[in-house]
Amino acid sequence: MNDMTGGLSFLPLGGTGEIGMNLNLYRLDGTWLAVDCGIGFSGNDTPEAEVLMPDPGFIAERSKSLCGLVITHAHEDHLGAVAHLWPQLRCPIYATPFAAAVLRRKLGEAHLLNQVKIHTVRGNEAFTVGPFDLQFVSVTHSVPEAKALILRTPQGIIVHTGDWKLDQEPVVGPVTDLEAFKAIGDEGVLAMVSDSTNALKDGVSGTEGSVRDSMAELIASLHGRIAITCFASNVARVDSIARAARKAGREVMIVGRSLRNLETAARECGYFADLPPFLTEQDANSVADDNLLMIITGSQGEPRSALSRIASDTHPNITLGEGDTVIYSSRMIPGNEQAVMAVQDNLTRRGVTVLTDKDHLVHVSGHATRDDMRTLYELVRPQYSVPVHGEWRHLTAHAALARDLGINAVLLEDGDVLNLGPGSVEVIDTAPTGRLALDGGRLLPMTGGVLAARRKMLFNGIVLASFAVDDEGYVIGEPKISAPGLLEAEDPESIRITQEFADAIDEIPDELRQDDNAFRDAAKTALRRALGRKLQKRPLVDVHLLRV
Ligand SMILES: [Zn+2]
Repeated sequence: MNDMTGGLSFLPLGGTGEIGMNLNLYRLDGTWLAVDCGIGFSGNDTPEAEVLMPDPGFIAERSKSLCGLVITHAHEDHLGAVAHLWPQLRCPIYATPFAAAVLRRKLGEAHLLNQVKIHTVRGNEAFTVGPFDLQFVSVTHSVPEAKALILRTPQGIIVHTGDWKLDQEPVVGPVTDLEAFKAIGDEGVLAMVSDSTNALKDGVSGTEGSVRDSMAELIASLHGRIAITCFASNVARVDSIARAARKAGREVMIVGRSLRNLETAARECGYFADLPPFLTEQDANSVADDNLLMIITGSQGEPRSALSRIASDTHPNITLGEGDTVIYSSRMIPGNEQAVMAVQDNLTRRGVTVLTDKDHLVHVSGHATRDDMRTLYELVRPQYSVPVHGEWRHLTAHAALARDLGINAVLLEDGDVLNLGPGSVEVIDTAPTGRLALDGGRLLPMTGGVLAARRKMLFNGIVLASFAVDDEGYVIGEPKISAPGLLEAEDPESIRITQEFADAIDEIPDELRQDDNAFRDAAKTALRRALGRKLQKRPLVDVHLLRV
């Protein structure tokens, strides 16, 4: 694409589609600004990778003209990829105090903290990044200090909402600043780029205050140990639970690494200020069951989480059983149903009562419902609506809602370059996109050779044959074959395949034996043939030829 043309454009590199991992780009007269940089968790369709993030290759090639990265809020799908991708972006970061505190901890773990310049943006003051004239506006969401980003450009004003909802009683932090949105609407807004998560949900959002009240009532009515699982970043929820627990005469204990990290970040920023430090899991046995409430990680059935380990009775410090209660104060992220059900099943088997948002009001969503969306559109009155952050059916429903309000809606897929002026607002180009999987400490392209081989191995197994040859290319000794995940070593089939392979390489024509590559290819063909039809599979095949 031509980077030299002037004007303003918008390009999502991640954020549309089934796995929400946000990486948005704006370009103004040849200079780029990134907004959010998140991870996503893969569903059942990619078992070879758990944590995914957008491939930043397109902007990494242009990192010299990338003037900054703005983080709208501290959720993993908005900042979780920063510590992994920053080495390719190498730009300053702008975030609220809370998001900056969460980010610093992640960058510290990645040994990047002294390289990354983080500018903390307090309140809703204006700030500039390169040619971009920016301003935060407070929105309510399920994490403290969520912000919409306003971009004032020569082509017009863009409202990039981030994740938001309307909530008259958010418990922690301010309500969505509707007056600010109205004032910006009065200035005239070119486009609103906005969250589509709940675009299929009618009505208004539930309030966090109603969850607090209902949860307090529920906690007061229970006996035995209580464990409540929720998202670590939902400081308002943790705050409500902790206060309800104390009112009911229970001490609050935090279990799980992500909750402890979030508690530290939250206290650094002044949250939980009048609550005493939470107990840690080592204190579990020093408090009577009826006086203890645990807030615990694992609401999505994550296998290594504290709750999964308690459910399978493999947690070093905590047990739950007959008479105890586990409350899921969270929604089930699509794709995690089976894992969550398995944990709930294990808990029930131990005699634990499991309560979810189907039984009591113990959770509300942090995203705008259709009525919330209408309210914001009526205040902002953009010329164009650009739905992001959702699957295709959410984006489509969001676009239809905007059109009903007389607003032009533009549906984008990751990689689409939307011209926002001068000239007509339309897709003018496509940038390459992709996904990277976090594999141990490495980032691997989902479409690359390593993960393609992993997928093949996962379903079809791998067969490795090794054999030694002399100077002239004649086989010395017996070849060795191993097929981990496919055949046991003592399987008669292994012995048959080894024998057939040995016979086949003996018959390889002499002229192929001098050239290692030709010899290896012929041996691979022989190995495939030896595997034959019996396995009824096409495993990954490799041959090690050793010249001795
Ligand atoms: Zn969010």
